[in-house]
Amino acid sequence: MSRAIHYSVIIPMYNEEAVIEETYRRLKKVMSSTGEPYELLFVNDGSVDRSAQMIRDYARWDESVKLIDFARNFGHQIAITAGMDYAAGRAVVIIDADLQDPPELIIDMIAKWKEGYEVVYARRTRRSRETRFKRWSASLFYRVLRASTDTDIPVDTGDFRLIDRKVCDEMKRLPEKNRFVRGLVSWVGFRQTAIEYERDERLAGETKYPLKRMLKLSLDGITSFSYKPLKIAGYVGVILSIVGFIYMVSVIGSAIFTDSTMKGWASIVSIMLMFNGFILIMLGILGEYVGRIYDETKSRPLYIVRDVYQMETTSRQGHLTGRIAQHD
Ligand code: UDP
Ligand code: MG
Repeated sequence: MSRAIHYSVIIPMYNEEAVIEETYRRLKKVMSSTGEPYELLFVNDGSVDRSAQMIRDYARWDESVKLIDFARNFGHQIAITAGMDYAAGRAVVIIDADLQDPPELIIDMIAKWKEGYEVVYARRTRRSRETRFKRWSASLFYRVLRASTDTDIPVDTGDFRLIDRKVCDEMKRLPEKNRFVRGLVSWVGFRQTAIEYERDERLAGETKYPLKRMLKLSLDGITSFSYKPLKIAGYVGVILSIVGFIYMVSVIGSAIFTDSTMKGWASIVSIMLMFNGFILIMLGILGEYVGRIYDETKSRPLYIVRDVYQMETTSRQGHLTGRIAQHD
């Protein structure tokens, strides 16, 4: 492209062949209406369907289409990160491939950006079209996260957002492995604002966030922005010691001053089970943190790229990671 790219749109995709054509069409329409040069940066997160092939086909005749092709599935948050590493635009938009985030909103985001905001995130006002469990768990998670951290992470906000080049450059300096991208963007700071929208249903296909992955993302969010879970053991320990001491005094007192004897087996067993359970839970929480520390120390790269199409070939580490596609 001869003119410098104004907008980069990052679209992570994992087995999205059912939706990708419509997503491409809608994004194309919205982005060409800006009248400024843009790139559609698809990140293929190890799809085993035709998603990557479809993008390569579009790239044949559309020079705004670019593709980062991962060597395997690395996860949504890593795919977004790779997109940021490669994005060339002065403003960078992150959007899901399944059209749950309406592309038309990008125009409003751009308007806010032009007003001088460096981060424009999209807050979901209503998600009535998602399952009750998803709505309930998401709402609980955002509130627990907010209560447990000092970083100002907005509630009900996903990764659908526009960030300025400056923010994108700062994001590239954050090397952490178990990433919670929306939290990191808040942590970085800058002038942030919200626009509101209604989250649509997935156009087609299945969610790529089953319960297990949702839990992992939640734990990544909480562990990377808060130490509070680690402190629970301390607080509970102090309270229990006080209760235990008072109880001990009363037991000794009744042994000396009365002749009642206590029948203790059942109560001791239940108390033991409860406290052992609590100790194991605390060990589990500790494990979540220790495991993440271990991930950091291994210093493996965040992702492995098989190939890139229609792009400069520098990665986060500045190595050559792929070749520019040769189209004949
Ligand atoms: N995604 C991805 N890698 C994964 C899982 C998901 O790139 O391992 C992409 C997916 O293709 C979609 C976005 O991340 O574009 C959000 O996923 P999904 O819509 O399945 O999540 P949900 O909206 O149900 O939370
Ligand atoms: Mg979705």
